[in-house]
Amino acid sequence: MARADKSNDSCGDFDVLIAGGGLVGGSLAIALAGTSCRVGLVEAIPPDSDVQPSFDDRTIALSRGSYRILNELGIWPLIADSVWPIHKIHVSEQKRFGTALIDADEQGIPELGFVIKSRRLGQALWQKLGELPTVTTFCPARVTATEIEAGLRSVTLAGATVESLSTQLLVVADGARSELRGALGIQSSDRDYGQVAVVANIQVDPQRAGCVAYERFTPEGPVAILPGRDGLYTVVLARTSESAPTVMSMSDDEILDLVQSAFGFRLGRFTRIGQRFAYPLHLVTADSIVAERAVVIGNAANGLHPVAAQGFNLGLRDVASLGEVIADGYGLQAAAFDPGTVDILTSYCDWRCSDQRKVVGFTDSLIRMFGIPGAPASIGRGLALAAFDMVPGAKQELARQTMGLSGRLSRLARGLPL
Ligand SMILES: Cc1cc2nc3c(=O)[nH]c(=O)nc-3n(C[C@H](O)[C@H](O)[C@H](O)COP(=O)(O)OP(=O)(O)OC[C@H]3O[C@@H](n4cnc5c(N)ncnc54)[C@H](O)[C@@H]3O)c2cc1C
Repeated sequence: MARADKSNDSCGDFDVLIAGGGLVGGSLAIALAGTSCRVGLVEAIPPDSDVQPSFDDRTIALSRGSYRILNELGIWPLIADSVWPIHKIHVSEQKRFGTALIDADEQGIPELGFVIKSRRLGQALWQKLGELPTVTTFCPARVTATEIEAGLRSVTLAGATVESLSTQLLVVADGARSELRGALGIQSSDRDYGQVAVVANIQVDPQRAGCVAYERFTPEGPVAILPGRDGLYTVVLARTSESAPTVMSMSDDEILDLVQSAFGFRLGRFTRIGQRFAYPLHLVTADSIVAERAVVIGNAANGLHPVAAQGFNLGLRDVASLGEVIADGYGLQAAAFDPGTVDILTSYCDWRCSDQRKVVGFTDSLIRMFGIPGAPASIGRGLALAAFDMVPGAKQELARQTMGLSGRLSRLARGLPL
């Protein structure tokens, strides 16, 4: 079996090998390039492929914390001309009283976050990766198996010129339907929400266009409307799995009517809608985020419903924390540092578990709370939204969480170098 050249037999081919070069794995490779770590990145699908699962037409709302992280990683200058700011987030329930507004001005910051197409962010990540001599990429190549061999983690590759690689630490970032998570012996739970997110670009009245993101709960499922340049917004319409095929087959006029009646006229009349994309919605959580000489990050650790726009933001915080734990290790021990030890994995796990639990719980509770049918529940939600809007402390805390600025912050999320 062919092996990659090794610089040091006892340390393996790489100090850190990342399986999955999507939004999260790609970001981690860039973060680690600034340390003295030998980094390998294996990605199954080329970044410019039409079937690349991480870089497609979905619009990602980046939190303020994510903006800071991407800025520190040198990615922001590559995407600055493709983002659109979010100044306010407006939350409401269809045909019910009670709304809540999170406002950047109230938080004393210029914007709560930004929106960008994931395809554009993916292009920027891989452009940056191409400029980094300390990151070796294998693409297209797939990690098909992993085991502990001679005290290191070895992986088997398919589709690359090398058939196996060894590493001190394997980072599994292969998405919610991760196969490698199971190969590490980590169990996971997968709850089907019975919903599909239908995503499309939608043209709103340019006179009413601005920088407000909307989240509206309807009996059929939540509708998110994210702002964009020239009034070209993105709609994310969650529908039941049974009704989604009908929605996907609707004519432009039919679906415009559907979105209009679910959302109302706050943004005037919707005049055009682009191609529709469907994403089945699940909550996938790994029972553990670490295994021997391995760590699971991003969607492979927590695959969320997009209702609260938290998935990538949460994964990017995994990146910033793991990067910091590893960078600190190299700072203290230099070349002797081993990033795959139990101590390192434990400090990462201790840091990340509470944030992950909070975000998973928050996202899931939104779906459950707004999914309870009937007038009493709906009145209760209306009161809760109205009360929430009037209680500055509650709003402040939720705003900080939504912006990715609550709990223990990484240096990158504070706008400092790794
Ligand atoms: C409709 C929708 C809207 C969303 N909106 C938002 C939002 O507004 N804000 C937000 O923060 N998040 C949002 N998300 C979530 C966000 O898209 C995900 O959290 C993010 O894509 C996760 O990135 P990832 O790299 O962990 O996983 P993925 O994006 O799934 O990438 C995994 C990568 O691993 C590769 N891979 C898989 N298996 C292997 C293997 N064996 N070997 C090598 N490579 C492999 C894949 O090809 C892929 O490139 C949204 C999601 C959806 C569906």
